Amino acid sequence: MSFPPIRPELAGIEPYGAPQLSTDAAPVQLNVNENPYGPSPACIADIATAVAEAAATLNRYPDREFVELRTALAAYLSRDVGAGQRPIVAEQVWAANGSNEVMLQLLQAFGGPGRRAISFAPTYSMYPEYARDSMTGWVAGRRESDFSLDLDVARETVLRERPSVVLLPSPNNPTGTALPPEAVAVLCEATASVDGLVVVDEAYGEFRRAGVPSAVELLPRYRNLVVTRTMSKAFAGAGLRLGYLAADPAVCDAIRVVRLPYHLSAVTQATALAALRHAPELLGRVDELRAERDELVDWLREQGLEVADSDANFVLFGRYADRHAVWQGLLDAGVLIRETGPDGWLRVSVGTPTETKAFKAALVEVNGERA
Ligand code: PMP
Repeated sequence: MSFPPIRPELAGIEPYGAPQLSTDAAPVQLNVNENPYGPSPACIADIATAVAEAAATLNRYPDREFVELRTALAAYLSRDVGAGQRPIVAEQVWAANGSNEVMLQLLQAFGGPGRRAISFAPTYSMYPEYARDSMTGWVAGRRESDFSLDLDVARETVLRERPSVVLLPSPNNPTGTALPPEAVAVLCEATASVDGLVVVDEAYGEFRRAGVPSAVELLPRYRNLVVTRTMSKAFAGAGLRLGYLAADPAVCDAIRVVRLPYHLSAVTQATALAALRHAPELLGRVDELRAERDELVDWLREQGLEVADSDANFVLFGRYADRHAVWQGLLDAGVLIRETGPDGWLRVSVGTPTETKAFKAALVEVNGERA
């Protein structure tokens, strides 16, 4: 008898997670696509007041339907609806502790034994874990060498595999690739024909380049479309744990069946509401980070490296015969990035100008040593 009596398919599996090193070991942390800017003093003060008010109510369970927060998130998402379209309403919005939890709930409600979820690799490494944990079959379709989707291949994959959920990150992690609206449209139609949902994961949506629309614009056209977002990146709230989605109200109602009661604490709800009140200021920082990202892409290309176009707050670059040695060389210089993605590539998050400068200096040194 082995102990503990874990499900056989989980035996020996390491928990997911990037190395978390102290700032002593790695002063420049560019490995998990966090926003390098903390909230402003005004935002911190507003959060502190809101949390103090919530603390006075902690003997009671929080609002299970988090109506005030759903309403505020709907108003925020309505910035991205197309011209002449109706604003998003609270009934179309759902939220949980990070978009990771939102997507797990989606698979708990719409996946399950005998059903399949698919995405197109290389892509976010948590997707197969949501599938495993919800006992949903997992299929990885493929991307082209520039990390885009060949729409004929993608459509055929959907028609062949008949998934109940298609996970489409846009921008994709770790490549930074955003999907054009035509791709989302083609996949919504193909997936509707097999009675499935398409989840466009816009965790990095606010970082997309000018002219790249959000899939929120397509919600009125496709009933089977779900768009997920997070406050972890653009809202500088990775520690807050608040992810959310917009979809048909029937999708939200189905998730309410599988969610744990009171899953969003009163403190989380109060903090998220306070942070949303500071959206204009936080999104100003996003604009700075987008400019910093574009500049970093250009600089990496000038170094003779291959760089994937990025609509996110990180950049995938390479290729190296021994990427681990480059990663280690950067870490030895105090710069922590991520060894992820296809062989030979590395991913760096966009930091402050000072952090980017440190990264560039370390990379020049490491590349020089390896030339
Ligand atoms: N989707 C993608 C593509 C991500 O990269 C991440 C986080 N790295 C998430 C979702 C989940 O983020 P969170 O749970 O913090 O909202």
